[in-house]
Amino acid sequence: MSEVGEHEAFHTVVPPFNAHVFRCPLCRDYTTVLSPLSFISLEVAVCENCGREFLIENDAAHVLAH
Ligand SMILES: [Zn+2]
Repeated sequence: MSEVGEHEAFHTVVPPFNAHVFRCPLCRDYTTVLSPLSFISLEVAVCENCGREFLIENDAAHVLAH
């Protein structure tokens, strides 16, 4: 039984992560969101500065509505 080759296969399928810089709608500071997508259509992200969640919609940051 041989499992040689699985590590190589794993490395080839890791997607490249793009750094998206957004201005947090809550604290107005800049935060970086990593995503394999080049365009974020809808995602909830956590601000690096205030730790609160905000919504990314069509690659733009919005206050998360509750
Ligand atoms: Zn913030």
